[in-house]
Amino acid sequence: MKPEKLPHVVIVGAGFGGLETAQKLAHAQVQITLIDRHNYHLFQPLLYQIAIAGLVPSQIAYPLRTIFRHQKNLTFQMGEVTSIDFNGRYIRTNGSVIAYDYLVLAIGGQTNFFGVTGAEENGFQLKSIESATGTRNHLLRMLEQASREVDVEKRKALLTFVVVGAGPTGVETAGALAELITHVMTKDYPAMDLKDVRVILLEATGNVMATYPAELRQATMKLLENKNVEILLNTRLTDYNGQTITLADGGHIATYTLIWTAGVRSAELTDRLGVQQAASKRVRVGPTLQLPQRPEVFVIGDAAYLEDGHGQPLPMLATVAQQEAKFAAQNIQKILKSEAPEPFQYKDPGLLATIGRNAAVARIWGLSFSGFIAWVIWVALHIYRLIGFRNRLVVLINWAWDYVFYDNQVRLITRE
Ligand SMILES: Cc1cc2nc3c(=O)[nH]c(=O)nc-3n(C[C@H](O)[C@H](O)[C@H](O)COP(=O)(O)OP(=O)(O)OC[C@H]3O[C@@H](n4cnc5c(N)ncnc54)[C@H](O)[C@@H]3O)c2cc1C
Repeated sequence: MKPEKLPHVVIVGAGFGGLETAQKLAHAQVQITLIDRHNYHLFQPLLYQIAIAGLVPSQIAYPLRTIFRHQKNLTFQMGEVTSIDFNGRYIRTNGSVIAYDYLVLAIGGQTNFFGVTGAEENGFQLKSIESATGTRNHLLRMLEQASREVDVEKRKALLTFVVVGAGPTGVETAGALAELITHVMTKDYPAMDLKDVRVILLEATGNVMATYPAELRQATMKLLENKNVEILLNTRLTDYNGQTITLADGGHIATYTLIWTAGVRSAELTDRLGVQQAASKRVRVGPTLQLPQRPEVFVIGDAAYLEDGHGQPLPMLATVAQQEAKFAAQNIQKILKSEAPEPFQYKDPGLLATIGRNAAVARIWGLSFSGFIAWVIWVALHIYRLIGFRNRLVVLINWAWDYVFYDNQVRLITRE
């Protein structure tokens, strides 16, 4: 059969879900077009490392054309998908119209600010290379400004860093930021008084890491407190004007830095598809990950809403996206063989989050543990999951260097 006669699978999004789908279809009798607005795959779980000056973007992102250099049945196209015509079975990008036989939407999510006034405009987020680099520049600039500030109250505000949302990303960011200042920046700014520095983790609910078991939540609190992170639970913010946070109870926190890690919703394109959306605006899919009434369309990953056996939505995690991707690829191949697609079932591989040097919490094979062993597992797993041998080696050397010498290498302010 000539390649042009093969069924055309269009995959939108080359994050965890899209990448895995494309790779799982490498030997299938299909022609694949993979589309992403970026020309790289981004390992989002390490974005906070960019923000705290630990890694450079090229160490956690990898060019898509290099990844798929040897996959003969795949063409990559960089572009922004702007609309989809489900009846006509084609998508529109900002430069082309592409027809499909099967469509896999793996467009991920974006930060959800829950309508808090000023949070998006004046705060920082960790969702892209640009936002993480912007956060790094800002953090370093605050330290520079504080070093020459004579007004005591202003200096304290410059040295107050607020992370909003005590999920894994917020916890990782707050822990790493506290360490950056305590272990590294005090060497660059010997006159800095650590008593003026505050790293605050602000959480609207009564728990850190709400989805983790109680023993790991307690371990996380302890590990964060050891690093002098102030944890404010049951604390909701209502407004941030770039200088002052206003809390729901009327209190205020003077700060020039708010890093928002409190929520994610599906990517904006899902709002324009005319499909049924559920919590966090995710697209409701059937158990086989197909769109109702559109068996040729699969939605996976953060953009998809599917409940587990207990009626809980599957979490917005890379592991979910990757497992769904395998299923979507399998189901497309089943349909091509005129077999019935199978329902997806998520196999929870466990929980893992780091709180900094020698400190992590984990739940693996039903066992909860925290501290050094969990941290070693976290380091090994994240290095293993990075794409490209060079990235793995460079990140390993980087982290080993930082570990031994207390030195985050990327302390560069690169833009105004
Ligand atoms: C800071 C941070 C830390 C995280 N830590 C962890 C962790 O430790 N463990 C874990 O399991 N998960 C973690 N996650 C969550 C994990 O990254 C996501 O669940 C995962 O990326 C979802 O995969 P996905 O394929 O659905 O979407 P993504 O990986 O987000 O990929 C979506 C892709 O679609 C592209 N795209 C979107 N819209 C369009 C469009 N209109 N046109 C073209 N392209 C488009 C985007 O450019 C992107 O490349 C973290 C996320 C963040 C932000």
